[in-house]
Amino acid sequence: MEAKLQELKNRLMEVDDLNNAVALLSWDQTTYMPPGGATARGRQMATLQRIGHEKFTDAAIGKLLDDLRPYEESLPYDSDDASLIRVTRRAYEKLIRLPSDFVAEMSNHAALSYQVWTEARPANDFNKVLSHLERTLDMSRKMADYFPGYSHIADPLIDFSDDGMKAESVREVFGQLRQQLVPLVRAITAQEPADSSCLSLHYPENQQLDFGLEVIKQYGYDFNRGRQDKTHHPFMTKFSLGDVRITTRVNEHDLGDALFSTLHEAGHGMYEQGINMAYEGTPLAGGTSAGVHESQSRLWENIVGRSRGFWEYYYPRLQSIFPEQLGKVSLDKFYRAINKVQRSLIRVDADEVTYNLHVMIRFDLELELLEGKLEIRDLPEAWDERYETDLGIHAPDNRDGVLQDVHWYGGLIGGAFQGYTLGNILSGLYYAQALKAHPEIPSEIGQGKFDTLHTWMRDNIYTHGSKFTADELTEKVTGGPLRIEPYIDYLKTKYGELYSL
Ligand code: ZN
Repeated sequence: MEAKLQELKNRLMEVDDLNNAVALLSWDQTTYMPPGGATARGRQMATLQRIGHEKFTDAAIGKLLDDLRPYEESLPYDSDDASLIRVTRRAYEKLIRLPSDFVAEMSNHAALSYQVWTEARPANDFNKVLSHLERTLDMSRKMADYFPGYSHIADPLIDFSDDGMKAESVREVFGQLRQQLVPLVRAITAQEPADSSCLSLHYPENQQLDFGLEVIKQYGYDFNRGRQDKTHHPFMTKFSLGDVRITTRVNEHDLGDALFSTLHEAGHGMYEQGINMAYEGTPLAGGTSAGVHESQSRLWENIVGRSRGFWEYYYPRLQSIFPEQLGKVSLDKFYRAINKVQRSLIRVDADEVTYNLHVMIRFDLELELLEGKLEIRDLPEAWDERYETDLGIHAPDNRDGVLQDVHWYGGLIGGAFQGYTLGNILSGLYYAQALKAHPEIPSEIGQGKFDTLHTWMRDNIYTHGSKFTADELTEKVTGGPLRIEPYIDYLKTKYGELYSL
C-alpha cells in the first residue's frame, strides 16, 4: 500500500507542477506580458493544460485509487492519507468526464477571450467581445453536458467551485438574504448619503501601495512567500505553498480601490499560505471552495478592514501619509466615507450592504444564459434592466455595465459568482465563531494586532486545505450548517449604528 500511495503522490506532483506552470503563465499574462504575446500564450497554456489533464485522468491513477480503497477505508476519515485519496478520487471522477482536447480548447479560448476583454472594456465596445462570449456560452453548456443527470444545467459548473451547492440551493439562500437586505438598503438610502468626497482627492500611487503593503504585513501575509503586482482585475494566485501572490490596481483618485483590493486578496493569500505544508503538490493543497475562499478575503477586507477599531488604530498613520488630503478629515467622517452605502454600478467597489445584490443579478443572468432563455446579444440590455429594477440605477455605458467583471470573459459562464455571496455569509459565520472563542479580538484589532484572529482562522480553516468540503468544514467549525443569521446580525449592528436605524 505504501508503494502505491507513493506512486499516486508522485503522479499528482507531476500534475501539480504542470498546473502551476499554467498558473505562472496566466499570472504573467495578466501582469507583465505585452499584448503581442496573447496568441502564443493561449496556445502554451492550452498545451500544458492538455498534458496535465491527460496525466491526471490516466487510467493508472484510476487503478491506484481503486487499489487504495481498502487502505483508505481502514483509516479515520480525517487522516491525511484517507483525505488525499478521497479528494483525489472526487476530482478524478469529475475530470475524467472531460476530454483532454476539450480542456485545451477551453483554455485556449479563455486566454484569447480575456485578451479581447482587456481591450474591449476601456474601448466600451461590447461588440468586440460578442462572438467570443457566444463561444464561451456554447462551451460552458457543452461542459455541463459532460455531466448528464443534473437537475439544472448550472449545477455541474457550480459544483466545480462550490462543491455540494446547486442552482436551487443557491437560489434558496439568496432568496432568504434578499428578504433581509432589501429593507436594509431602503432604510439606509432613504437617509442623506455619507460624504465620501475625501476619498476621491489625488492620492499618489506609490504611497497608496506602500500603505496597503504595511497593513497586510501586519495582518500576517508572508512576503517571504508572496508578493504583489499590478493588474486589470485583482486576483490571488499560487505556484506552490511557498509562493502565493496577489495583485491589485490603483486609481489615484480613489483611495479605496487599491487598498481594499489589497486587503481582500491578502485574505485569499493568507488562506493559501496557512495550508499545511505537508500537502504540497497534492489536491489537498488549495482552499476548499470558492465560498470558503471568499469568506477569508471578505473577512480581512470588510469585517476587519472596514471596522471602526481597525481605523482607530490606522487612521492617524494614514493621515500622516496624506496630511494634505486627510489632515482635516475626522476619523468619524472617514469611517462613514469608507462605509458609504449607496446604489452603485460597480460590484467590486460596492459597499457591504448592496454588494450581494450585484452578485444576485449576475447569478440570475448566467442561469438564464445557460438555460437558453437569454441570448448573448441581448445581455447588455438585460443587465441594464436588472440594475434598474434591483438597484434603481442605469450604467452610462457598457464599460461600467456588462463589461465590468472579468469572469464571463475569462472563459466560463456559470459557477463563478455564487461564491462571492456564499463567502460573505460564511465570513460572518466564521467570525462569530472566532469571537466566541476569543472575545478579545475586536479590542486587539483596535490596537493593530491580528495574531489571535489570524491564528484561529489558520488552525480552524486554513491548515486543512481541501481536506474537508465547505459543508464539512462549516459543520466542524460552527457545529451546524451554513446559515445567514450571523452575517445579517453583523450588517444590522454595524450599519444600524452608522445610520441610527
Ligand atoms: Zn475574492
